[in-house]
Amino acid sequence: GGVLYIVATPIGNLGDLSERAGQVLTRADRVAAEDTRHTGKLLQHLGISKPMIALHDHNERDRFVRVIDALLAGEDVALVSDAGTPLISDPGYVLVREARAAGLRVCPVPGACALVAGLSAAGLPTDRFLFAGFLPAKRSGRKAALEEFRDLTATLVLYESPHRILDLLADLVDVFGRERECVLGRELTKTFETFYSGSVASVLEDLKADPNGARGEFVVMVHGADPVDREGAATLDSDRLLSLLIRELP
Ligand code: SAM
Repeated sequence: GGVLYIVATPIGNLGDLSERAGQVLTRADRVAAEDTRHTGKLLQHLGISKPMIALHDHNERDRFVRVIDALLAGEDVALVSDAGTPLISDPGYVLVREARAAGLRVCPVPGACALVAGLSAAGLPTDRFLFAGFLPAKRSGRKAALEEFRDLTATLVLYESPHRILDLLADLVDVFGRERECVLGRELTKTFETFYSGSVASVLEDLKADPNGARGEFVVMVHGADPVDREGAATLDSDRLLSLLIRELP
């Protein structure tokens, strides 16, 4: 059978398409894309013309059969999404699972991913993090999800769309408290790339005050909760305690 390549594409800056991604897209027999018009533009930019298969989230279960058939017939297929790494809050999971189950080779071609780009520059702990993608669109579901994460000591990473970002931050204030540290990465790798950081409450204020604040795409990162010992009292790690004490000294 052929090889299924999982190809990361840029999240804004076209320069982030890797040399290998370009080669794989050039050599593939077929491109499976989330949105063929969107990917068509990228391929055009690269000077590539290829047969494509559309693979939306809602039709993935039907369309993956066509991709598996192409692979079984010996074709190499490159899977891409609209931006970043396929399967990360994007379609492809069913296809990859089925391809592996069919004994086909699945080969990653890594590159841009908004959550990694955001974390790498946010200045929050990265040794342990939980990526939860998009939370439910309705407030009640979103708050229930946040309550589940409130006592998590790992950094929390979320995706959010521009029309819900202010609502998400307001819910973070309600559930995590005003003071929890958070960092927002907006329009990463693009012209208007911005990081907002501080307490959840101050980031919400900053975003409201910025006329372009709620435009663009966001990665939301929240510092983990302070570890709680067995007796239930919050404990601070010694480095943080020391830096807090130093700040208080004259
Ligand atoms: N597969 C993509 C990846 O690897 O990051 C994510 C796709 S998901 C449908 C789209 C979401 O990713 C956006 O709503 C936003 O939360 C985040 N995102 C994508 N590009 C971004 C960028 N340039 N800056 C900030 N967030 C971005």
